[in-house]
Amino acid sequence: MKLAEAVTFGGAALDRVAYLRANPADLDRAIAELGAETILMWRGKPLVQAGALAPLVRLRLDHRVLKGARRILLGRAQGAGPLILAHDISHWVPDGQDAQTLNSFLDPSEQRHPDLPEAWVFAELRRIMTLLSPRDAELAATARGLFGWHDSHGFCACCGAASDISMAGWQRRCPVCAAPHFPRTDPVVIMLITQGNSALLGRSPGWPEGMYSLLAGFVEPGETIEAAVRREVLEETAIRVGEVGYLASQPWPFPASLMMGCHGTALSRDITIDPSEIEDATWVTREDLMDAFAGRHAFLSPARHGAIAQFLLSNWLADRLD
Ligand SMILES: [Zn+2]
Repeated sequence: MKLAEAVTFGGAALDRVAYLRANPADLDRAIAELGAETILMWRGKPLVQAGALAPLVRLRLDHRVLKGARRILLGRAQGAGPLILAHDISHWVPDGQDAQTLNSFLDPSEQRHPDLPEAWVFAELRRIMTLLSPRDAELAATARGLFGWHDSHGFCACCGAASDISMAGWQRRCPVCAAPHFPRTDPVVIMLITQGNSALLGRSPGWPEGMYSLLAGFVEPGETIEAAVRREVLEETAIRVGEVGYLASQPWPFPASLMMGCHGTALSRDITIDPSEIEDATWVTREDLMDAFAGRHAFLSPARHGAIAQFLLSNWLADRLD
């Protein structure tokens, strides 16, 4: 798909400068030579300038808010500019923080740190993802994914000892058995299944009323992408899928998925849902989907803007899947 990398979190060709990860002295030297700036994360939320455009805030490495923060090396803009790092201050506890809101799906709360300007806030990434430039979205997604992995993988999977961050944030190493551990990315297939003029959409329990999206599921060990697409669709709707092709992918750091968008052609039409997996599934015509995207449909509301489901469906409507 020619437009594949135009997806949200599709990236801006960040040079990840992996040669600077192994030796902390090399990294310090490069920081001194090239200069460096950092983005700041707090419990998965990036620090952004409040307001409509929400650019990621860049801080100098000697800013006092970074004291005691964990850091990782993200990379460098292609061929130029300073190195870009990410720091995490999840240990900070804001006054009056409401834990319930913080864990909600589209957390609307914003946090202001007393050592930072009033106009800078920590904001939930899914809520602001479409406001970020491709570069900022790539940086924020990478930082969120990596820090989230460190938070949930603090102990060696081989011997159980507490492990340490290494390789400038891109590995963990066990000080007891020396096992290296690498950041996880979990492959998920998400599929645009069509038959003629219709696409197959489904909804999960708990979604906002009327919201339907593409079917999706985790790839299992020993399975190809194509087999995962066919299995998931068969399990969830009893529809058989023939030819399957790859369209586009999307890093989705909530917490660690890589969404692999595919197109599949249905060989059957009758739907029998598995209620333990989805709440409903239905065939939707292009005309109905266009109405839904325009907010004119009687009951159907499409996948959220920024999600790959919405990206694939809108490109299908525009005949741009090639
Ligand atoms: Zn170990």
